[in-house]
Amino acid sequence: MATKIAVVGIGKIARDQHLPSIGRSAEFELAAAVSRHGRVEGIDNYTNLETMLRERPDIPAVALCVPPVPRYEMAVAALKAGRHVLLEKPPGTTVGEVEALIELARRQNVTLFATWHSRFAPCVEPARTWLEGKQIRHVEIVWKEDVRRWHPGQDWIWEAGGFGVFDPGINALSILTAIVPPVFVTAATLETPENCQTPIAAKLAMRSLAGFDVAADFDWRQEGPQTWEIRIETDQGLLVLADGGSRMSVDGGEHPGGLEAEYDGIYHRFAALLKAGEGDVDLAPHKLVADAFLLGRKVDVGPFHE
Ligand code: NAP
Repeated sequence: MATKIAVVGIGKIARDQHLPSIGRSAEFELAAAVSRHGRVEGIDNYTNLETMLRERPDIPAVALCVPPVPRYEMAVAALKAGRHVLLEKPPGTTVGEVEALIELARRQNVTLFATWHSRFAPCVEPARTWLEGKQIRHVEIVWKEDVRRWHPGQDWIWEAGGFGVFDPGINALSILTAIVPPVFVTAATLETPENCQTPIAAKLAMRSLAGFDVAADFDWRQEGPQTWEIRIETDQGLLVLADGGSRMSVDGGEHPGGLEAEYDGIYHRFAALLKAGEGDVDLAPHKLVADAFLLGRKVDVGPFHE
């Protein structure tokens, strides 16, 4: 039988991805929406999460699709009410609050799933498999997109806890940490508009005990063609993951990928976790961003206007 689920935060990602994927899933049934302004036709709508949790004990799972700052309090409320919780990326604002959620979910004996949607891109698993047994020499990440095109009207991305350019950049880091040995940050520059709290561009240097370096270039000012690319030089050739993990080539030769179905994959994995009674929270991408903020040299740039 399908698990009833409530989606919280009916904004861009809920409408673009969560609602369609739940609609296609045989494992979940959309039972309610919770949002102050957004509404979903044909189901019960609530403007307050506590009310939904109180009035709908028949809904065992919630998907939190709000921005990171309000997410912790909502996750605590849902976990305390004994619900399984799916978190959009990034799983919270601080690493510490997500660790607290892991502990709360363990005590409540419910599933906490911190999703990293880019890990479900079709060529990520083939890339991880191809890299097995190969010696990595160097990694270069170029993640450049136009913030005005992808985040129109979203003020929260510029406020403290909004991640700025790391909102997309953490997607690259989620792929990186899924396919190569552990890395850590050695230097960062954070180009921050004078009227914002978060960076519009960032450069990171990272290193691995396995003996390779990583250079990452995140920029939200890219007009025209958009770039979401990871290039991995190995002793047996150059692997390029392009279009956010949708395409892969080795030494210029395209590898067959699969169909684009990141969020279908997320809900399938959530169902498997529920069935197994397990959780899945990997903080590796989040820690890299936190360390970039700890170590980063701030560079002031001109004001940002929509
Ligand atoms: P969004 O549209 O700006 O926000 C989602 C909804 O959250 C809003 O419509 C709002 O609905 C609700 N909300 C509750 N508290 C809020 C607050 N304090 N500030 C702003 N909104 C609040 O954002 P989004 O693009 O869907 O992103 C949400 C999360 O999904 C982020 O963590 C983001 O990184 C992740 N994500 C986004 C994308 C994308 O393409 N946009 C892709 C993958 C992942 P009500 O006003 O109705 O309550």
